[in-house]
Amino acid sequence: MQGIMSLCDVCRSRSATFYQKHSGLKLCKHCFFADIEERVQAEIRRYNMFESSDKLLLALSGGKDSFVLLDIIVRVHDASKLVALSIIEGIRGYNRPEDVEKLRTITRKYGIDHIVVTIKEVIGYSVDDFVEAQYSMYGMIKISPCTYCGLSRRRILNLYARKIGASRVVTAHNLDDEAQTYLMNLLRGDPARIIQVHPLSPLLSHSFVRRVKPLRKVYEYESTAYAYLKGFRFQETECRYLELRPTLRARIRHYLYSLEDTSPGTLLRFVEFMDLLLEPYVKRQQLPELPRCSVCGEPTSYRREVCKLCELVTMIKNAFRTKSNEQLNPHR
Ligand SMILES: [Zn+2]
Ligand SMILES: [Zn+2]
Repeated sequence: MQGIMSLCDVCRSRSATFYQKHSGLKLCKHCFFADIEERVQAEIRRYNMFESSDKLLLALSGGKDSFVLLDIIVRVHDASKLVALSIIEGIRGYNRPEDVEKLRTITRKYGIDHIVVTIKEVIGYSVDDFVEAQYSMYGMIKISPCTYCGLSRRRILNLYARKIGASRVVTAHNLDDEAQTYLMNLLRGDPARIIQVHPLSPLLSHSFVRRVKPLRKVYEYESTAYAYLKGFRFQETECRYLELRPTLRARIRHYLYSLEDTSPGTLLRFVEFMDLLLEPYVKRQQLPELPRCSVCGEPTSYRREVCKLCELVTMIKNAFRTKSNEQLNPHR
């Protein structure tokens, strides 16, 4: 019985090393890798995410998901049409430079150009600067650092994609991320944003380069196992700001984990259902071009003259200016 129990449910010849909770299958390494790769390829084809002629900018953070993305993409796309970009957020104790170095050994092996930039050098201030500015202004954190971090990363990806002439930005978002984003926007009652999660969402500005997420049907636990079983040693340092000010996303994340625990497969069914439900709606969308920010010239939200990122950068600038003035004139 023991011998039968440990055989892979797919090939029935090798011993199983991975239990795929949501399918109930025990898989050997070989069949597990094949399953992930097939599902990623199916998702790319289903939504025509890119074609062989597309130049892709890969957003690689240095975590396990970016390793999985890189490992699969080099087998489905010509390496000469790939450029990697890693963004260093500037968060003390968050081991990004080392993780990026590990990815670099892989991109080097495939001859893929790998750009590494910091948020500070492109946007002006690091994520730590953003936190420090809020402490000096309010004595507390009012706006989540994740907001500044996310806006900055999105901006940098878009700027670099245009700079290198990429036709797609490829990110390593997994199924857990996607389920969280869908649910978050559902609960906020935000139809404009929920459409943007869908792989066929309309591009709202000619200045945006389309972002695609090939791993969006791969669970985080699968991505972790994939990276681990392939021998990729990554340091699982969680960003220290993640729990600092619990955002709606953080609460949803916990909630979805507990749902998935008691009922494996929930996240996958939820994302697939949302995709299907939204598809006809997304295809019908005819939205006007986004206006441009009067400060930076990049696209901004409808009815917004200055983009959110410029607004936050101004806030940091003012906080630091006030601080240095106080230091110059301590009695005023
Ligand atoms: Zn097998
Ligand atoms: Zn702006």
